[in-house]
Amino acid sequence: MNSAYEVFALRYATLKWSRSKAYHCYGVYGEEDSSCDLDYYFWLVRNGERTVLVDCGFDDERGGARNRLQQTSPLELLSRMGTRAEDVDHVVLSHMHYDHIGNIDLFPNATFSMARAELEYWTGPYSDRPTIAWPVESEEVRMVQQLASQERLELVENSYELFPGLVLTQVPGHTPGQLVAEVSSASGRVVLASDAVHFYDEMNLDRPFSTFHDLAAMYRSYEMFRDLDARPDTLVVPGHDPDVTRKFEVVADQCIDLTRPVDLDERPRSEAELVEAAHRLAQRPRHC
Ligand SMILES: [Zn+2]
Repeated sequence: MNSAYEVFALRYATLKWSRSKAYHCYGVYGEEDSSCDLDYYFWLVRNGERTVLVDCGFDDERGGARNRLQQTSPLELLSRMGTRAEDVDHVVLSHMHYDHIGNIDLFPNATFSMARAELEYWTGPYSDRPTIAWPVESEEVRMVQQLASQERLELVENSYELFPGLVLTQVPGHTPGQLVAEVSSASGRVVLASDAVHFYDEMNLDRPFSTFHDLAAMYRSYEMFRDLDARPDTLVVPGHDPDVTRKFEVVADQCIDLTRPVDLDERPRSEAELVEAAHRLAQRPRHC
């Protein structure tokens, strides 16, 4: 049985943002503030046997109320990859924030998974406090509870092999039950960090993101991701970083193949390779 997966990042929105908003206590670094993009992705993981999504993006209307606009609908992005909504067997809900669970009603044949700690936190005693509740939509929390009552929701504790070659692990810090998906592909292991690492700089420079549940746990998680990313067969993919589109092959508009890293230092040898490299560069979207 071949359980190696294809893994794609699908980018459905981009927000113009700033580093002082992205990083906790940005002033301590003594750097001028500068603009940066916050990209919004969800991820398609599939092989001959199953089609899995990791997250499903924000809802167009509820996102709009937060001044977050879908630039391409999730279903349009899936269709570019030849996947229909009804083909999706399972959706991993990495955490409860609105930009990750907004479209669960689009996938009629899917079962879902979420960490038990995540569901318990967002339905727990302090979940309605405004300083806690702002990144979630109460209607969407109810939709997740409804999935549980329909027996369509698997609750994950610690680490769990969802399917052969697809392991979910709880990595606290950003939220109490943030899940990370480790996927076996033909080119090695792809770690979909989702919001356990929004930007490469969190992991590489040890700079905490601005929103978190447990700061020390988030630092611990960054250490773990640095160790993982240092392994020759493993690539950690952040959940909101525009650099993902530069570090991997773009195979269709806003669709990035995470099993095909681009060697940015590569020096093409033949004329044909030069033409091919120029073509690839021309197709690559640009960011600040
Ligand atoms: Zn997010």
